[in-house]
Amino acid sequence: MTAQAQSSREMPNDALEVCDTRSAHGLGVRTLVARRRGEAFHRFTGVISAELRQHSLQVTEDLHISDTQFIGYLSHSCAPNCRLDMDAFDLVALCDIPAGARLTIDYAETEDRLFRQFACHCGAAACRNWITGRREGPTIEGQAYLAARRSGT
Ligand SMILES: [Zn+2]
Repeated sequence: MTAQAQSSREMPNDALEVCDTRSAHGLGVRTLVARRRGEAFHRFTGVISAELRQHSLQVTEDLHISDTQFIGYLSHSCAPNCRLDMDAFDLVALCDIPAGARLTIDYAETEDRLFRQFACHCGAAACRNWITGRREGPTIEGQAYLAARRSGT
């Protein structure tokens, strides 16, 4: 274990934990205690720059936050249990969340463009199947994926 990992473990972390989701999307974040609907339970910090990166999140039209302790690892869901307040830099519960549950956000809520678009299997009734930023259409790969789904092949 590195010295850095040791010290970050001792920092207060708002009872959140980065975990392995055992899926193609790799890491996720779960809450170690129950959260109530509407509760802002984690204030995030990080490095703000103009650079769009794999685990960055969009703060304003031109700025992205990266090197965050948790929020860069939040999983996407089309029916998420959390949202990011980019004015207050808070992670907010959208519903009551039991202890141990994985936290999710809708990536298109904050991101104009994604670092990488992807197929979604979140299981929500309103799942969009292919996730893009809010100001971009599906890539060629995404168009092919959606067309194949529609034709059932
Ligand atoms: Zn989905």
